[in-house]
Amino acid sequence: MNFELSDEQRLLRATVREFARAEVAPVAEELDRTKAFPYELVAKMGKLGLMGIPFGEEYGGGGADTLAYALCVEELARVDSSVCITLAAHTSLGTMPIHLWGTNEQKAEWLPALCAGERLAAFGLTEPEAGSDAGATRTRARLDGGEWVIDGAKQFITNSGTEISGCVTITAVTGEDDGGVPTAARRGPASQGRREISNIIVPNGTPGYEPGEPYRKMGWNASDTRPLSFDGCRVPESNLLGRRGEGFKNFLHILDGGRIGVAAMGVGLAQGALDEAISYAKERRAFGQPISKFQAIQAKIADISAQIEAARLLTYRAALEKDRGESFTLTAAQAKLVTGRLAVRATEEAVQIHGGYGYIEEYPVCRFYRDAKILTIGEGTDEVQQMVIARQLGC
Ligand SMILES: Cc1cc2nc3c(=O)[nH]c(=O)nc-3n(C[C@H](O)[C@H](O)[C@H](O)COP(=O)(O)OP(=O)(O)OC[C@H]3O[C@@H](n4cnc5c(N)ncnc54)[C@H](O)[C@@H]3O)c2cc1C
Repeated sequence: MNFELSDEQRLLRATVREFARAEVAPVAEELDRTKAFPYELVAKMGKLGLMGIPFGEEYGGGGADTLAYALCVEELARVDSSVCITLAAHTSLGTMPIHLWGTNEQKAEWLPALCAGERLAAFGLTEPEAGSDAGATRTRARLDGGEWVIDGAKQFITNSGTEISGCVTITAVTGEDDGGVPTAARRGPASQGRREISNIIVPNGTPGYEPGEPYRKMGWNASDTRPLSFDGCRVPESNLLGRRGEGFKNFLHILDGGRIGVAAMGVGLAQGALDEAISYAKERRAFGQPISKFQAIQAKIADISAQIEAARLLTYRAALEKDRGESFTLTAAQAKLVTGRLAVRATEEAVQIHGGYGYIEEYPVCRFYRDAKILTIGEGTDEVQQMVIARQLGC
């Protein structure tokens, strides 16, 4: 497998690295502290062409591959996870279903503004009673006079309630017992029935669709995460996204791809923590010398750096498999599992290397530590990744 980057990929990585250093790093602590959504940074990322990296150039996207996208995500997460997840959830979760299954009309309506970063897309899968068991969706949509009437609730939905949120693509039950489409792939009791699940685009501002108040979170403080409610919400029948009854299957495919982005976040966050730890260890002195000279500190740095290199290759491999049209479900789940755990461990070690200062918010590692934990939960928990991996291995 050839991991040599093309000139375009190198250029994109260098562009994002510089953007993260010059534009994101100086404001990341304040955005996190004030829980302020990074509107200006999103606009700048839109102008730089970062809000639509893998989408068609005819719609203003970058036409780039998954590896280029992963490199970009990695560089952003190295500096700030809130800004990074805003881009990643918008790209690989929110906009991707429209790119993959949208009609020409849907693409023309949504993609230009989404790729420009003028509007944000959200992905509404999780519900209060349907998280890991995502096929247990209770949100329902019924046709009435050429419109879908949607009732239900979603929760933990990223990018759903900002001033520039354009739409959410949701799963909803659109029929019972469709005659054989196994809409729920998971084995939980709540999802054993055969129900027809479809995807529907719901524009922000539609009467009956209300994003709730943002959650108070452990991390990702400058990103937007809300519960959503649908109460007699009516959208045109033409807002059906993809084929009726294929919504659950399609969203599982989206999650497979999204895991490569989340894995790249884990690599980037771990790398950012390591960068900070090395720089601090070389400056901080104890017992008459820099703490970087102590073997106990060196061992932490060496272990984490080796694990990052391994995790990075696994993540790039998943991206390359996807770009080559190969099955990437196994590798993406492995990469997501390994990198989430690595990010948690690397940020913890980085805090440890900072001693008491690591517990103080002015130091980025404090924020990194809080931002890491979600990587073992979002887009499928570690336990779900283990299930996916074991099934792929024939268990
Ligand atoms: C900040 C944030 C942003 C998010 N953004 C989005 C978003 O944009 N869109 C979206 O749709 N969702 C989003 N999510 C939801 C996220 O994907 C879910 O929280 C996650 O999939 C877990 O679902 P759950 O919270 O319902 O946990 P549960 O499914 O209730 O799981 C609870 C525990 O049980 C374990 N468990 C469950 N089933 C099994 C099993 N079969 N075997 C073993 N263990 C099991 C889990 O691993 C976990 O440890 C977001 C969540 C957060 C916190």
